[in-house]
Amino acid sequence: MAGHDHDHDHEHGSELSETQLRVRALETVLTEKGYIDPTALDAIIEAYETKIGPRNGSVVVAKAWTDPAFKKALLEDATKAVASMGHMSRVGDHLVAVENTPNRHNMIVCTLCSCYPWEVLGLPPVWYKSAPYRSRAVKDPRGVLSDFGIALPKDTEVRVWDSTAETRFIVLPMRPAGTKGWSEKKLADLVTRDSMIGTGLPLNPAEMK
Ligand code: FE
Repeated sequence: MAGHDHDHDHEHGSELSETQLRVRALETVLTEKGYIDPTALDAIIEAYETKIGPRNGSVVVAKAWTDPAFKKALLEDATKAVASMGHMSRVGDHLVAVENTPNRHNMIVCTLCSCYPWEVLGLPPVWYKSAPYRSRAVKDPRGVLSDFGIALPKDTEVRVWDSTAETRFIVLPMRPAGTKGWSEKKLADLVTRDSMIGTGLPLNPAEMK
């Protein structure tokens, strides 16, 4: 599993899944009734595929590392704090930021399907949607972490947050030591997608430059 993104969802011939057929049918009906503009829909999908990615989240984390008031706002209401930076979530759902500390490591999963904080991390990696990750993240989070090359101290509690369509999570990783005085932009370069899912840690500042 270790972080490989092999996309084998859409490459088995031209047969459409039931979900794809339903989506296609819905899109046709909604377009015919004038509720949606297919061009606008394409623009939204393209934005998620090309413009909205984990960099959005990295910038949010770096700001929380350098601005205590923003960090407080983020932990109190991540939907609001993230929207204040221009990353809008879809209507009606709620984003929660969970903070890593020396005593607690947080990890996110959606045990039912693939709920994910799109507005800050973009599209979910294929492994996030896979059945093994979804079940093992809950039953054996340390085993999953070790697959990702992460070994935490024994007395660090691992807490797993199960996302839903209404409530999604982003992990606020710990700011790495040795980054005193770093700019937000430089700090953001340390924040990986996986560190915001909790299956990784920020990059080691000594390896940057
Ligand atoms: Fe889900």
